[in-house]
Amino acid sequence: MHEADVLDKYREAGQILADVRSEAVKKVKVGHRLLDLAENIEHTIRQKGGEVAFPPNISRNEEAAHATPSKEDVSVFGKDLVKLDIGVHVDGYIADTAVTVDLGKHDTLVKAANDALDAAIDVVKAGVDIEVISVAIEEAIEGYGVLPVANLTGHGLERYTQHAPPSIPNRKIQSGVKLEEGQVVAIEPFASDGNGRVHEAGKVEIYSFVKAKPIRSPEARAILKQIEGYKTLPFAKRWLEGRVDLGLKQLELAGIIRGYPVLKDRGLVSQAEDTVIVTADGCEVITRRP
Ligand code: MN
Ligand code: MN
Repeated sequence: MHEADVLDKYREAGQILADVRSEAVKKVKVGHRLLDLAENIEHTIRQKGGEVAFPPNISRNEEAAHATPSKEDVSVFGKDLVKLDIGVHVDGYIADTAVTVDLGKHDTLVKAANDALDAAIDVVKAGVDIEVISVAIEEAIEGYGVLPVANLTGHGLERYTQHAPPSIPNRKIQSGVKLEEGQVVAIEPFASDGNGRVHEAGKVEIYSFVKAKPIRSPEARAILKQIEGYKTLPFAKRWLEGRVDLGLKQLELAGIIRGYPVLKDRGLVSQAEDTVIVTADGCEVITRRP
């Protein structure tokens, strides 16, 4: 699928990300501010020569994804179940990873997601049906007496596209789609002690560009100028300046951008994610240090 020089860019993004993640994990501590962590992650990515592929997601407890602090956020970590989901790109080639940091006592959920990820990575190779991966994830998570989150999935990665085919479900669903050598995919099991389904909740802090259309509003045009460089990658409201609320609203109504509401389960949620390059007899995990 991807050429050798392109795969090297994915690898570079992955190794930067592996280092950023281990530094970030150390900053998830009771009393530390979420906004400080988010800004620190973004700064560290650039310092190491990468670009921020999407706003760092810092989702706590029932939140599963799409939470990132606003500019005004003053919240600090409590005894939370924290999911850090971070992305780095090099020339548009994205590596995507997530880790759960448990500041409470949620061993089972953390282990369920981690084991499911390892079980999935064990069965990945060119030619394998995606259903085999989904079954590995589901069985590992259910082995802990908790549920995989059914409506969140792993995904392929393409240049400037964070969610490309194939979709990799976290529970057994007939797929018929097979992995191909040289494909880059992110596998991301979520485990929940609630109902294993997320719903949209809370405000929106993350957006992405959808398609170009004429728009006259100066506020909207001012935002468009600021987000040009992100292409089709997600961006944070926090990164923007000016009459941001008005501009974003107009762009969203016009279908030029879309928002990503925070996704929540009814119970606590854990997550583990790595990005891999599919090979003939297995895979190369690019978001871990060898
Ligand atoms: Mn992710
Ligand atoms: Mn992902």
